[in-house]
Amino acid sequence: MSEEQEHVKCLIIGSGPAGYTAAIYAARADLKPVLYTGMLAGGQLTQTTDVDNFPGYPKGIMGPEMMEDFRIQAERFGTDIRFGYVSSVDFSSMPHKVVVDESKTILADTVIISTGASAKWLGLDSEHKYNGFGVSACAVCDGFFFRGQDVAIVGAGDTAAEEATYLAKLCRKVYMLVRRDEFRASKAMVHRVQHTPNIEIVYNTETKEIVGNGQNVTGVRVWNNQTNEEKVLDVTGFFVAIGHTPNTGIFKGQINMDETGYIITHPDSTQTNIEGVFACGDAQDHIFRQAITAAGTGCMAALEAERYLAGKEHVITVE
Ligand code: NDP
Repeated sequence: MSEEQEHVKCLIIGSGPAGYTAAIYAARADLKPVLYTGMLAGGQLTQTTDVDNFPGYPKGIMGPEMMEDFRIQAERFGTDIRFGYVSSVDFSSMPHKVVVDESKTILADTVIISTGASAKWLGLDSEHKYNGFGVSACAVCDGFFFRGQDVAIVGAGDTAAEEATYLAKLCRKVYMLVRRDEFRASKAMVHRVQHTPNIEIVYNTETKEIVGNGQNVTGVRVWNNQTNEEKVLDVTGFFVAIGHTPNTGIFKGQINMDETGYIITHPDSTQTNIEGVFACGDAQDHIFRQAITAAGTGCMAALEAERYLAGKEHVITVE
């Protein structure tokens, strides 16, 4: 264990909508929360442009600006927000031990995990270049900007299938780029995709490059791995739906998670299998993954932490 120690009532790990919402509620309940931001302060939304589906912003807002609003609101009620990353945890005894920046140990009565998830990317330079300018990893967030236009989506799992059908309702045409000759998605989802007239499934096809004019996407260069044929599809939007990775590596072996690393919580709750440890947002939700649902579970986590601590105090008083 590191030399420097500090005892806190409520430690929040992560600074996306889930973490900041937990902080707002925990601070207002006088839990004096300490929040560590992680390496990407503000989370995934700081890497998007317009957010048009978060209630309360009728004209929309830029992702980074919205997260700044979240931060200011959390600070307004006294959350101690610190830049730093959690390097290891020990949930085997109470209080829980959380090491920050490999140098400082926080002893926490309650821990709220809101470390989020990261979208997987293809890893192309052009994908990075046009991220937010035609390239997106979230059809529900950004599909609206491509109404009436032609787009492409890469992936063949349930997410890609679901997002392709979502895009098909908004866009003129959706090319679905599948790298093998079959889908990974469930039969029902594949059936839906195959029976949506404006989705064209392009099998055995890999993405070589996102083509653009320096400002926006104008096409995608694809390669057929069976015929070796290369061509450019004219699209203005390119969606990547090849899966997400929950940012939960540091909790491995300490807490129950599913085989893909999402933290398992009790039904209708953010309670994990460890007493006093709650998980919210994309670190425990692989289905909805929206800012608003993350904020909702962040609120739940803070309320549950508060109740847990109140229950503890009550036991101590009774004794
Ligand atoms: P998956 O891991 O299930 O699928 C990822 C897909 O992306 C695969 O088809 C894979 O291809 C493809 N892929 C990966 N890397 C590349 C690459 N470099 N180039 C091209 N294609 C690539 O992720 P999902 O996000 O779709 O789903 C995650 C989990 O969530 C699953 O268990 C899913 O069932 C579940 N889910 C459930 C939903 C629901 O029930 N409504 C909705 C969404 C998700 P390949 O098949 O060739 O490996």
